[in-house]
Amino acid sequence: MNALAKLRIQATWAERLPLPFETAGAIRFDHQAQFHPLRFAASLTKGLRIFENTAYRALDGRSVRTDHGSIRAEKIIVATHFPVINWHGLYWMKLCQHRSYVLALENAPDVQGMYIDERMGGLSFRNAQGMLLMGGGAHRTGKRGGGYAALAAPATDKLKV
Ligand SMILES: Cc1cc2nc3c(=O)[nH]c(=O)nc-3n(C[C@H](O)[C@H](O)[C@H](O)COP(=O)(O)OP(=O)(O)OC[C@H]3O[C@@H](n4cnc5c(N)ncnc54)[C@H](O)[C@@H]3O)c2cc1C
Repeated sequence: MNALAKLRIQATWAERLPLPFETAGAIRFDHQAQFHPLRFAASLTKGLRIFENTAYRALDGRSVRTDHGSIRAEKIIVATHFPVINWHGLYWMKLCQHRSYVLALENAPDVQGMYIDERMGGLSFRNAQGMLLMGGGAHRTGKRGGGYAALAAPATDKLKV
């Protein structure tokens, strides 16, 4: 809480949460948006041509080279999450990939918000389209651990679904 106050980020401490299991408490951030990321992206890209399954290979001026040919554009924004053109710093060698999993649960409680566990590998909860989305089970790609098995036990024990 002190760190957030120093950064002037508004947050409050919440003891009682509408989750169907015991919690030690939570840091609450009000006025967060919950939206459908694909609908959001579709709206941003209205009128643009989309090339799916087309990996970037190299940048030649205003042209992006792919395995199927080159795509020319007035403006190019690199939004690949992992840097693909920034050789300076070799960030792609210092970063690692994680995979996490989500269960969409029917007949589950309405948790009235979005929650994320502060533990590495913890759980997340939010409702969408009448279902409860429970995320977690994260592990480094190529390594064992987590997975859907890590979600099955809390779904039964904590949520009783
Ligand atoms: C399970 C889960 C739940 C999450 N929940 C939340 C949440 O509730 N709220 C929140 O704020 N954040 C959440 N996040 C984090 C959020 O999803 C990421 O921070 C965000 O998606 C990053 O956006 P981005 O555009 O940088 O990258 P990405 O969304 O990863 O998009 C990068 C895109 O670039 C493409 N790409 C990569 N390399 C190439 C290449 N060489 N050529 C062509 N295309 C390429 C990829 O295919 C991908 O489509 C969650 C993440 C996960 C995994």
